[in-house]
Amino acid sequence: MHRIHILIAMDAHTIAQGAHSVKDELQRELSLAALTDEVRVVETGSLGIYNKGVVLVVFPDAVYYAGVKVEDVSEIISEHLIKGRIVERLQYADIPETKEEEGKAPRFGKQVRVVLKNAGIIDPDNIEEYIAHDGYEAMGKALTEMKPEDVINTVKESGLQGRGGAFFPTGMKWEFAAREKSEEKYIICNADEGEPGTFKDRLILEGDPHAVIEGMALTGYAVGANKGFVYIRGEYKMSINRMQKAIDQAREHGLLGKNIFNSSFSFDLEIREGAGAYICGEETALIESIEGKRGEPRDKPPFPPSVGLWGKPTIVNNVETLANLPQIISKGAAWYKSNGTEKSPGTKVFTMVGNIKNPGLIEVPMGITLREIIYEVGQGIPDGKGFLLAQMGGTTGGILTSEHLDLPMTVENLREIGAGLGSGALLVVDDSQDVVDLVKNFVEFFNHESCGKCTLCREGTGRLLELLEKLTDGRGELKDVDLIEDLAKVMMKGAFCGLGQAAPVPILGCLRYFRGEFEKYVKKPQVAQAAVA
Ligand code: SF4
Repeated sequence: MHRIHILIAMDAHTIAQGAHSVKDELQRELSLAALTDEVRVVETGSLGIYNKGVVLVVFPDAVYYAGVKVEDVSEIISEHLIKGRIVERLQYADIPETKEEEGKAPRFGKQVRVVLKNAGIIDPDNIEEYIAHDGYEAMGKALTEMKPEDVINTVKESGLQGRGGAFFPTGMKWEFAAREKSEEKYIICNADEGEPGTFKDRLILEGDPHAVIEGMALTGYAVGANKGFVYIRGEYKMSINRMQKAIDQAREHGLLGKNIFNSSFSFDLEIREGAGAYICGEETALIESIEGKRGEPRDKPPFPPSVGLWGKPTIVNNVETLANLPQIISKGAAWYKSNGTEKSPGTKVFTMVGNIKNPGLIEVPMGITLREIIYEVGQGIPDGKGFLLAQMGGTTGGILTSEHLDLPMTVENLREIGAGLGSGALLVVDDSQDVVDLVKNFVEFFNHESCGKCTLCREGTGRLLELLEKLTDGRGELKDVDLIEDLAKVMMKGAFCGLGQAAPVPILGCLRYFRGEFEKYVKKPQVAQAAVA
């Protein structure tokens, strides 16, 4: 039994900063100090702290150290572990109200950790640790005590809405597939996030892959599917490796495969790697990609719960949606609804990026205000700068300004102002940034990622970019600002799929709140003439 655990975050960022070397040094120094029987070093997923170098936490003290280098390790061991004195120069003290709760995930200020309850706490490569934290309990309960329709009803009652951006009620979607009479049905985990600044699904997968596997198996049981695919963006190598290891371990433990828990239910999973096209996050384009075709969206209807992968009923759920399921089944719908609001229950995971002191992975209850997220969870804006805007929900997300700081962040409130919670990135922008440059950046992304199937998006994103470049190059006219607005509105109405329809959202949001910034770029002809005269 170890008296102390050192959890070291192993994500793409910390690995690039030398997390493996720090871990090796920890092991070496612990061995030299004859502490290996008392202190255990555990690799975990992200601890939710970004841009702070190698991060580790010493439990049970719940002391966080950031920016740890190999040469700091001996001091942490001799001072903290042996003498009981915190190494203050390395302590990550920006986390408000950090405390350990019942040995579970620490809260960071206003955060509530449901999906992230194990992330940064357990070793994601070790199924025993997931099981020790109530893992696969929900699957056992469902397969031994519940009928598939009970599982669907519990999820319906919980009010869980899909966390991929559309926020469609999960239980209702399942019901459509469950009603279909088909020998074959499929479950797909959509782990193809590809928007700039959005990486919450990657960190959920890397921090707690078994929660996603259990969520997929529960979905399969509910709708009558025996086969699932995890569609992961190809460049997410660590996610792919961790997920494959977790699938193998689940199979070895009889938690995937035939007759799980001695029931008549069989379910297995395979990983499919995406080639990195943003459009493949759209469920029908994703299905086309798994089928080996070019990733382009299909006509809808029919929707995938009726006609999906290889023409069979298919449920496509997002990583975060799936990771919510085990706890909903174990603890019940009423427990799930104890977080969030009546119409928007539960929590939401975000990656908070941009001009923010404490960026990283956060999970907050629905209904929290933007002010609380930015100034309490995120600790405010650095360098004494003011708040200009936030983009909620990724590159296609709506624009929020200071007038929205106290608006409770719910699906319905954001819809009302033409925004949304989207894919789970929250970009905070300070008042020193150029709005037009920001918009140009968004449009460059959409222009690059447009799949080319429909003219409005394929040509529209290109024309928008040209118009914005005309403005920033000083060649613009006032009518160009109107043209940008008209084109964005037409695209929103006429583009074939969600990408083209949503791309104009941040453009129109910026025009609505910061039109003057666009007009500032306009080269007024009368000024030019006056200069010539
Ligand atoms: Fe492709 Fe864009 Fe049309 Fe969607 S809107 S089908 S991404 S071209």
